[in-house]
Amino acid sequence: MKEIKHFINGEYVGSASGKLFDNVNPANGQVIARIHEAGETEVDAAVKAARAALKGPWGKMTVAERTEILHRVADGITARFDEFLEAECLDTGKPKSLASHIDIPRGAANFKVFADLIKNVATEAFEMATPDGAGALNYGVRRPKGVIGVISPWNLPLLLMTWKVGPALACGNTVVVKPSEETPTTTALLGEVMNAAGVPAGVYNVVHGFGGNSAGAFLTAHPDVDAITFTGETGTGETIMRAAAKGVRQVSLELGGKNAGIVFADCDMDKAIEGTLRSAFANCGQVCLGTERVYVERPIFDEFVARLKAGAEALKIGEPNDPSANFGSLVSHKHREKVLSYYQKAKDEGATIVTGGGVPEMSAHLAGGAWVQPTIWTGLPDDSAVVTEEIFGPCCHIRPFDTEEEAIELANSLPYGLASAIWTENSSRAHRVAGQIEAGIVWVNSWFLRDLRTAFGGSKQSGIGREGGVHSLEFYTELKNICVKL
Ligand code: NAD
Repeated sequence: MKEIKHFINGEYVGSASGKLFDNVNPANGQVIARIHEAGETEVDAAVKAARAALKGPWGKMTVAERTEILHRVADGITARFDEFLEAECLDTGKPKSLASHIDIPRGAANFKVFADLIKNVATEAFEMATPDGAGALNYGVRRPKGVIGVISPWNLPLLLMTWKVGPALACGNTVVVKPSEETPTTTALLGEVMNAAGVPAGVYNVVHGFGGNSAGAFLTAHPDVDAITFTGETGTGETIMRAAAKGVRQVSLELGGKNAGIVFADCDMDKAIEGTLRSAFANCGQVCLGTERVYVERPIFDEFVARLKAGAEALKIGEPNDPSANFGSLVSHKHREKVLSYYQKAKDEGATIVTGGGVPEMSAHLAGGAWVQPTIWTGLPDDSAVVTEEIFGPCCHIRPFDTEEEAIELANSLPYGLASAIWTENSSRAHRVAGQIEAGIVWVNSWFLRDLRTAFGGSKQSGIGREGGVHSLEFYTELKNICVKL
């Protein structure tokens, strides 16, 4: 059986404790590998390697040299595209048709975008008058923050991990990554690419394991980690923030959401249906930006529900290798239990099940997989658990509204503030409503359209800080002011 080891100081190493756990393919329930679980020993070794690497050749490189290496990392991922694709789909159960145009290309792009960005960012300078008339000059310089702890989730494993590692390395930091216990393979494989690209030993380190009382907690509690960047659930974000308080370490938190889609009667219905289908069901609904609450203006409510139902029922459920499949399994049986518990709650709370609501019948070789049906509900009260809590599954609740003010109020009614999608052909309305939505990202007539130079992150309980473009520099560098008396 294949083993997945830690990557520390440029080498793959097993756990001293000998503790391993299963890596399961969620499409059929089969164990595909055994993963080494890091204890405090491995986490400490990884942090020490990362600390030492800051003082090694990495710390002395010019920006141009670092940029060249990071381009080679991106090219290295692309050169081994099929291996990364296979590994990502085996870990997650997602269709190759999806991962081949999102997860893997974006995983590579994250290195090039930030490498190129860092070459062209200016800082500030201020001339200042002094009483002696000679004056002073202030100027800013950016310096790496140090050792960055990276904790990533399972829904877009390579993409979301490199979204942090790309800018961290571009800015000259070193990293210790703790990928999700569900999806360790591509993060581990990236170690080989780093070595081949000439990234010095200790710059990129990986430790595997779980969160609490395991690798995740050991990493966030480690006193020699300078800052922690995390993507995952809001509750985990709170725990990590508490850990980071010790030693006053900075955090960047990209957390959960319960995102609203607002569909006005003046929308282009074809676009709104296509976009909402993607935002509710892509990646089996396991996208933090996904829409789980859809508010539709009353005159088009019935038509919208009927067309979304038809679209959901036309999704092709299948295993990753099925080229016609556009709807995979959930990431694990544990997550399926959570999603199905909400399917049950919807029934208990009196929802009208427009479509789905259960487990699809799969052929014998996939029967052990974590499959659920794409599901649409109507008729639930605004305070029901299904409408207020993040499910992170392929499902949405649709509710009618009558006025623009009501739609805005509904969209803003929860403690989350990650993303929103507005569908209208009235451009004044689009700007007016977008400006009033309490979310870090608002799309108009689109969804998940990402320019990597723009700010990404959530407001309210959906996160702290922004990553993307120059905003990533705020977290991954220290801006130092140098004041020179002339
Ligand atoms: P999770 O919070 O359960 O786990 C995320 C990571 O944190 C995993 O690597 C896990 O092992 C680790 N972890 C768990 N407990 C920990 C602890 N006490 N200390 C240190 N590490 C710990 O999240 P998940 O289930 O993997 O991912 C789904 C969640 O992620 C959803 O809530 C989703 O909305 C969110 N998400 C947010 C964004 C965003 O950009 N805002 C993007 C993707 C996913």
